[in-house]
Formats: sequence, C-alpha cells, structure tokens
Amino acid sequence: MKILKFGGTSVGSVESIKAVLSIVKESYDAGEKPLVVLSAMSGITNLLTKMAEDAAEGKPFAEDLKLMEEKHFEVVKKLIAVKFQNPVLTRLKLLINELEDLLQGVTALKELSNQSKDLIISYGERCSNYLVSKVMEQEIPESEYINASYYIKTDSNFGNAHLNEPLTNQLIQALSQTHADKLLFVTGFIGSNEKGRITTLGRGGSDYTAAIFGSVLNATAIEIWTDVNGMLTADPRIVKKAFSLPLLSYTEAMELSYFGAKVIYPPTMVPAFMKKIPIIIRNTFQPKFSGTVIQFESGKSAYPIKGISSISEVSVINLTGSGMVGKSGFSGRLFTLLAREQINVILITQSSSEHSITFAVNPNDSQKAVELIQNEFELELLANKLSMPVVEGDLSILAIVGENMKRTPGMSGKLFHALGRNGINVRAIAQGSSEFNISVIINKEDLSKALNAVHDAFFAELKKTLHVFNIGTGNIGSTLFSQLNKQHDFLEEQNDIEIKVVGISNSRRMYFNEDGIDLNSWKEELENDGEVADLATFISKMQEMNLPNCVFIDNTASKLPSTYYENIFQSNISIVTCNKIANSGDYSQYRLLHETARKHGVDFFYETNVGAGLPIVRVLKDLMMSGDRLLKIEAILSGTISYIFNNFKGDASFYDVVKKAQELGFTEPDPRDDLGGIDFMRKMLILGRDAGYPIESSDVELGNILPESCLQANSVDEFYAELLKADDYFNNLKREAEEQGKVIRYIGSLENGKVSISLQMVDESHPFYALSGSDNIISFTTERYKERPLVVKGPGAGAEVTAAGVFADLVNVGA
Ligand code: ADP
Ligand code: ASP
Ligand code: MG
Repeated sequence: MKILKFGGTSVGSVESIKAVLSIVKESYDAGEKPLVVLSAMSGITNLLTKMAEDAAEGKPFAEDLKLMEEKHFEVVKKLIAVKFQNPVLTRLKLLINELEDLLQGVTALKELSNQSKDLIISYGERCSNYLVSKVMEQEIPESEYINASYYIKTDSNFGNAHLNEPLTNQLIQALSQTHADKLLFVTGFIGSNEKGRITTLGRGGSDYTAAIFGSVLNATAIEIWTDVNGMLTADPRIVKKAFSLPLLSYTEAMELSYFGAKVIYPPTMVPAFMKKIPIIIRNTFQPKFSGTVIQFESGKSAYPIKGISSISEVSVINLTGSGMVGKSGFSGRLFTLLAREQINVILITQSSSEHSITFAVNPNDSQKAVELIQNEFELELLANKLSMPVVEGDLSILAIVGENMKRTPGMSGKLFHALGRNGINVRAIAQGSSEFNISVIINKEDLSKALNAVHDAFFAELKKTLHVFNIGTGNIGSTLFSQLNKQHDFLEEQNDIEIKVVGISNSRRMYFNEDGIDLNSWKEELENDGEVADLATFISKMQEMNLPNCVFIDNTASKLPSTYYENIFQSNISIVTCNKIANSGDYSQYRLLHETARKHGVDFFYETNVGAGLPIVRVLKDLMMSGDRLLKIEAILSGTISYIFNNFKGDASFYDVVKKAQELGFTEPDPRDDLGGIDFMRKMLILGRDAGYPIESSDVELGNILPESCLQANSVDEFYAELLKADDYFNNLKREAEEQGKVIRYIGSLENGKVSISLQMVDESHPFYALSGSDNIISFTTERYKERPLVVKGPGAGAEVTAAGVFADLVNVGA
C-alpha cells in the first residue's frame, strides 16, 4: 500500500480537487491500495486561527465563517451530482454550526486556550476530508472519511503535540483491519490526547500524519503531493532560479526543512526513516513529473550542496560573562531550562574565547527566554559573572545543506565570499555538528539578496544574473542597450550570464523595473512609465533595491556621477564606466576610489577610458599582475589628432586637413579641444596611475601642436584665420620630416614615472610610422616585451566600439 498526502493548495479549489481525484483514482485502479491524507483547503487553517483569535477579542467572525462555508459548498455544487448534494451540504452545515457555537463560546469567555484553538482549527481538515471523500464516492463507492483524531494519540501539548507511538500503532492497525477494502480519506494534522480532546501536530503537520500512517502500515511509499516540483534547491518564491532535486537523504531533507523549506514538515522524516520508507514529493499540477525522492542514501550530485534554506525571522540572544559562559555546566543549565519551557533553540554559536554564547530563537519566544534566564541565573547576574542577556531582532538564518559538504573543502569560504561580495554582514555562524549544514545569521533585509547570491555561487553551472543600473542614454548608452538586447540569448546560452537592466536614467527621466527592462522598448518605458530624473534618488533607489551582483554603469560625460562612486562601492556595487572624469581628477580621489572598490570586493572597470573598446587598461593590468615590469609606454590615443597627421601629407595644407576633420565630425566644435591635447593627457594620466605612479595632471609635460597665435584666438573663426596664417609653420615641419623619410606624430609617452606628450618625427622603423585613418595605437615595452614591444592598434573612438568595450567590462564583473 501507499500513502498519498495532498496539501492545502491541492485541495484548495474545484479544479485542484479534480486533479487530486484523478491521481487517487489512477493509483486505486492500478491496485496500489492508496490511503489518502488531506490537509484543510488552502487558507482555511489560517482563517480558523484568525476567527478564534478574533472571537477571543470580541471581534466579529461571521463573515469569515461564511467565507469558509461558501468555499466548501462551492465544491459540493460543482463536483457532486445534484441528487446527492443534500446530505453532504447538511453534514457540512452541521460542522459549520458546531464551529460557530465554539466560536461563540470563545467570545463569551473572552479567552482562547490552546486546547480550544486546536479544537477549532481541526474543523479545516475535518471538512475537507469529508467533502473530498464524498466527491470520490461517486466514482469509488469504497471511499470513506476517517477522523484521524480517533487513531492518532498524543500528549496534551496542544498546538504541537507529541505522538504516543504504541497506542497510535495499535489503533491504526485495528483500523486497517476493519477497513481493509476501503479507500480511506484521513484528516491530516489532528490527533487527540488520552481524554479524547483534539490536539494538533504543529503547522504543516499533515505531512507528519501521512508518515505516521505510512510507517504503521509499512507503506511502500509516502507521497507528499503539493504545488511545486518537489524539494527545490531554494524557496522558489525568493530564488527564481531554484530547481528541483531528484534525490535527498532523510537527513538532508530534515535539515532543509528544519531551516525553513516549508515544502515538508521536519518531523515527517522520522517515522519514514525508522522504517526506510521513501518519501516522494510530487506536484499535483504536474503529475507526470517524478519529483523528489527522499531516502536513506543521499546519492551522487553534481553540486557540493543540495540546497539553501532560510528562516526569515529570528531573534538572537547574546550572553556574555567571564565567570560563567562557556563552562559546560552553564550551557547545560541554560539549554535544559529553555527546553523545559518549550523554547525551541534554532541555532547556537559560541565565540572562540568561550566567554559568550549566542543562540537564535523564534521572535515570539525571545522575551520569555530573557525572563527565564534572569530568574535562573539571578545570583550570577548579581555577582557580575554574567551580563544581562541582549536580544537582537530583525534577523534571518540562511543555511546551506548537503551530505557531500564535509567531503568538499572550501564550502564555507565560498559561502562567505558570496555574502561578502554582496555586502552582506554575517552576524553569527554555526556549523551543524553533523557537518551537513552551515548556517549564518544575517540582517532580515538582506535575506532575499543573500539567498540569490549564494544560490548563484553554489549552483555556478547555472547562469549568473547581473543587475544593471545605467545612467546616460546618449550614443554609447543606447548602443549598449541594443548590443545587450542582441546578445541576450547568446550570453545566456553560451556563457550562462543573464544581464538584466533594472534601472535607466538620463538627465530628464529615470525608470526602474526589478524584473528587467525590455530593451526593445526601453525608450518608451522610460518616457511613459518613468519619473523625473534625479541622480541622488536614482542611486539611493538602486541601493534600496539591494539586488545581488549589482552593477552601476556611468555612460555619461559629466562630473556629477563620479562624486557618488565612493558611496556606490561602499554599498558593494561594482562600477563600469566610459567616463574618464573620476580617474583623471586628483590622484587622491583616484586612489580612494580604487581602494574603496578593493575593500568592498567589487569591480571598478573603465577599459573605455583609454582607446574606447581596445584592450589597453586590461592588458596593462594583466602585465603588471603577472609580474612583468613596465619600462615604457608610447601611445597615440587621440583619434582626431591621429586622423589629422595621417592626412597631413603630399600637397594638403594643415588648415584643410583640420577643416576636413571637423566636417567629418571627428573634432569637437572647437578643434582646439582636441588639438590642445587635454583629452589625450587624461588618458595618459590614467595609464600612468594604473602603472603605479602617483601622477597629477600638472606633472604631465604637454607639448603643443599649435603655435601660440592659434591658441590665443578669441573664437573658432579667428582660430581658423590664425591657422591659415600658420601654414608655413606646418609646411616647414612637414618638409623637414619628409626630407628625413619621417612622418609627424603626436605621441604620448610614459617612462620612469614621467608622462609627456609631444610632436615627434618618426621613421619607418617606428611602430607608429604606418598608422592610418583615425586609429589609436599603444606600445608596451616591458621586461618581457623588450626586443619587440607589445602593440595594440585599432579604432579608438565611436559609439559601437565604445559600447562594446563597456559591454565587455560588464560581462567581466564578478568573474
Ligand atoms: P502544502 O499546502 O502542499 O502542504 P506548503 O505550502 O506547505 O504546501 O509547501 C509548499 C510550498 O513550500 C511551495 O509552494 C513553496 O513555495 C514552498 N517552499 C519553500 N522552500 C521550498 C523548497 N526548498 N522547495 C520547494 N518548495 C519550497
Ligand atoms: N492545515 C494545516 C496547516 O495549514 C496542516 C497542513 O496543512 O499540513 O498547517
Ligand atoms: Mg505543508
């Protein structure tokens, strides 16, 4: 025989009850001799609890009662043939009337004992099982309703009663003999004490009922039918990427459920374990799916852990005292005391100094625990051997679980790395003595982020999600979006990276969407659904959203964003930017930002600050990191200047070439902004700093391209007039170069910590001689690349290549 247990959601509606019936029927027809255990219809246990509590406070409950009645009556009307409806409706009405009497009693007494409460909530399971058995009876006449409180005997610990095993065994055995040919529908969750008063087995206890029946009747399997595909790697409501586990050991399932995986009630594992009966968690709404088998062996798995679970609300109590805490007698007294008073200690940690003990309890128990401690240890407190207990609330527990964990080194390192990288502060750590779990206490507000980050870290074969907040939607920003959009599927399939743009702002509007902004229609969404832009608000919203693997992209050219970088790093968010301002300001600022990013374990990537998408910053960094020694950098890092000198040959006049460059859109509106070399200087400065030199912009020797008269001109027109007059000057330069077989180049160099930029004439042996178009070029002379320098050359400007560089940086975040 087999136990089929269906949870509240499986019997929550007409449609789901139909699904239950077909699963039961199939098993019955296949001769599996199922015994069915049902929970109350979904939401009913909570509703009953609320009605009971309301009644005790004299609040009305009639509407809720009506709701409960209607929910059950609807099933009768839709699933039972008209001619059979009456007796069923009558019986249900009777149960509801009884319930109403009880609630009125509570109202009259203004008091709700745990005993009364158990009696009241037992009506949930009693109604649902009676009802479903009657629906089934139409097809299988052997169907019969069983009130399990006559068979499951417990102590009088109302709300969380403990099983009287021998008595229960006898009673269930007897039941199975008298009802051998029946298809039983047994109420989950409820039992009764020796006086026959109804008790309950703890919230979620129907699973336990199923295991108790399964164990007494030596079932071949205990199937727990619910609304998800078995036990998943994490709570699917919080971790969207959670996936179903095919196999778990009893211990693993116990640990996962103990630390919050609600899908199965922890005590359920005990009876099954004793008799080695497999528990199979299955999905009522996807009956073909095999679900999760819980059995003796943990089985092989591709991952070092099985799952991650969490308890979202706990309080922590800290005890310190040099005289007492840590001594074995003390802990013994403490935990015996708490156990005696039914306070469940979820987790205990002890500092290595042994002068303190930290333990976590349900927040409802914390006050009582403190009072108990104060009474029990009154003398020690008076003698200052112990300090007053300190309670901290708003905390959560996250636990990673798996039997393979103890065989795999580095598990806790991985856990703390994932938490640390995301700025999640760990308040306490405990490793289960079994080494099957490591649990940490964190702030409640970080829980969702922590679960997702840890899930990404441990199930790395799965894709990593980057959450992107982008400011600047000009040429580069919008090109980046279209590149991201095009590459989305490829990245996901080939690189297991999912990039979600969750915040976009330009100078006018900003827009957020935690599920990811559709990059086909970001413009419309920003315009229509967005709000008025404000950078400070944008950044604090980004911080409040507290998402894992978060990246801020600055695709603007303004100064303001850089003033927030430090603050952004402090909230453990990486930055990717094409904006040079932050890195080329004061050296102290450069230093501060880099150190802050490093301290918080986040990335600061700005490859596009130098040479757009060309790999320059990264190459320099890799050379330095691999222990090479930089001797010299030579570079042409201005596409505009590059274009001008590459075309200043033959008969062309310098004036014509500059004019042409401007017409082609290569220059700034005032060409002196390019020809003055400031932008080039900034790039050299950044490279110099990245190479380890504390250089300020005032240290850079910036040679002029233009004669003084052109620089002094008051307007662009005047500048061109002066440039025309300077023709001789440039022609002389050109002639001089040509006579020596050389070309003119404006070259930046870094040598011995000094940066200079100057006009030079180079011959064909120089790597910059053959430069064409508007290309950038850089050569690294190092200890390793001494004979032939390492040269990087290519287009160093343009929206497509710059956006591609930002994209590449983004993909590397967290790598
Ligand atoms: P039932 O009503 O069938 O007893 P429960 O609500 O008690 O169902 O448990 C099922 C729910 O548990 C799922 O809907 C899911 O949201 C939640 N849950 C939490 N953690 C996990 C997990 N690790 N695996 C599967 N489900 C989980
Ligand atoms: N109906 C009870 C509850 O909601 C028992 C169960 O569903 O397992 O806790
Ligand atoms: Mg449940």
